[in-house]
Amino acid sequence: MSEKKQDKTLLKAMVSPLLTWYGEHKRSLPWRDDPSPYHVWVSEIMLQQTRVEAVKGYYARFLAELPRIADLASVPEEKLLKLWEGLGYYNRARNLQKAAQKIVEEYAGEMPEDYEEILALPGIGVYTAGAIASIAYHQPVAAVDGNVLRVFARYLADPTDISDESLKKQRKAEIEAVIPGEHPGIFNQALMDLGAMICLPNGEPKCAECPLKKKCRAYLEQRTAELPVKAPKAKRRIEEKTVFVIQYQDKVLIRKRPTKGLLAGLYELPAAAGHLSKKDALVYVEELGFEPLHIEGLPDSKHIFSHLEWRMKGYLVRADELVPKPGAWQTDANCRMETPESIDADYPIPSAFAAYAPYIRKKKED
Ligand code: SF4
Repeated sequence: MSEKKQDKTLLKAMVSPLLTWYGEHKRSLPWRDDPSPYHVWVSEIMLQQTRVEAVKGYYARFLAELPRIADLASVPEEKLLKLWEGLGYYNRARNLQKAAQKIVEEYAGEMPEDYEEILALPGIGVYTAGAIASIAYHQPVAAVDGNVLRVFARYLADPTDISDESLKKQRKAEIEAVIPGEHPGIFNQALMDLGAMICLPNGEPKCAECPLKKKCRAYLEQRTAELPVKAPKAKRRIEEKTVFVIQYQDKVLIRKRPTKGLLAGLYELPAAAGHLSKKDALVYVEELGFEPLHIEGLPDSKHIFSHLEWRMKGYLVRADELVPKPGAWQTDANCRMETPESIDADYPIPSAFAAYAPYIRKKKED
């Protein structure tokens, strides 16, 4: 038998044990209770880059505020970003809204059923389109993500680098050749759960509990530790910053970030490049337009983005007076002074600043 045929036979053999296992062990997840296209879509977008446990609360809050696609299409952007605050990668939220607006305009508020039309919506890639089409519309389409790539690399003992983009296409075609027509969504979810619960990353799969162990080549050949093969990621760039919580009267200075690039359009605490000494920090605060009365150092913190790491030090500054000449906060339209309550309610501060956000509320006597 050719190698390709052998692989197909092996893949066919995974279907039945996987479905049986899923029936007994599937995770109970809120978006599975009512897997409408909207619910599958929102949950899958939130789950990119975020752990399941963390997503649950966001998902409930999001749907309580925006129960229909039309609500998402019309919500003010700042409220949307507030609902997304802490999940990171805010373009995901903006694309959700763009797609919702397109769905309202072109599909009368209902997610289209056609896979290609779903895929053409902003922010929806091949994986998410596959999840929506298979789970909500029962179409025989694969949903290939990193978990699925890992399971297949081991099950087939395939040493191809799983970060190779062309492999995703190949796996999609292989899965669609064996996906059960009557349960495509269940099959995809079973693969997701197997990758999340049993065929774990970092050389620690729980093979003894796996429904595929009788046929899994990596397990039978004792090669689970060396698979999957994945090229090392490029090193992250390190950026040093000094973050300021500047209190003046009962307000705190915040600044809107540029509309393009990292954390686009979100509000942040003002920050200077590099790690500033107390003396340089005082000069920076004066340039912003404040006469500092009190300054104290805050704990160091770091935040990791996909290609970048911020290493931050912080200062809490209380100012009782403004400098005579207007500083940057009066002349820069992106700067504003807001009360802690108003920041909480209306100005999404990215989680990159989470270590400093509590000081926004810190009172003199605290
Ligand atoms: Fe993964 Fe082990 Fe199952 Fe193979 S037997 S699919 S390596 S958990």
